Amino acid sequence: MKHELPELPFSENALEPHISAETLRFHHGKHHRAYVNEVNQLIRGTQFETAQLEEIVMTASDGPLFNQAAQAWNHSFLWQSLSPEGKQPQGQFLAAIHKDFGSLEKFQQEFSKAAINQFGSGWVWLVRNHSDGKLLIEATSNAKNPLRAGLTPLLVCDVWEHAYYIDYRNERAKYLKALSSVLNWDFAASNFESIVTLAA
Ligand code: MN
Repeated sequence: MKHELPELPFSENALEPHISAETLRFHHGKHHRAYVNEVNQLIRGTQFETAQLEEIVMTASDGPLFNQAAQAWNHSFLWQSLSPEGKQPQGQFLAAIHKDFGSLEKFQQEFSKAAINQFGSGWVWLVRNHSDGKLLIEATSNAKNPLRAGLTPLLVCDVWEHAYYIDYRNERAKYLKALSSVLNWDFAASNFESIVTLAA
């Protein structure tokens, strides 16, 4: 199957001043598009020719196809993790954040710390562990994501330099501060609730 670049769920300038339209034009229109195009090239003549993207991420061996497919999946998840609406978590989901991190502020601090400490390129995720239901922060390097570890991603932050270099140059901490204003907590809550429903 031919994989397609998903549209951004908001306009290119919707996250300004936190993330500029220019950043999104490159990040979505160039970087994400390149990952999708590479997947389409690499699956030709392989067992993955008809596979869904998530199946490739779950089963491809480490190497170029896994890297490109995981980057394509991670970026689709990233756009959904961002929103200009600035809503905060609430209800059962907020209660889970309080239980596992102490408070929303504490979560934000730990999430930023993990992102600042991630050496080189990678991703920082808010995930839920299937086995005990706990919320965790997971940092992954390069293209890796938590799916194969049996962790369900709720929200993600991209800490590749291409995510922030246009707006913040080398200042990853400034980017993370800005990012905390545009996290899509409704998306995280819906991911959280879908697991709670499955487990019930
Ligand atoms: Mn990226």
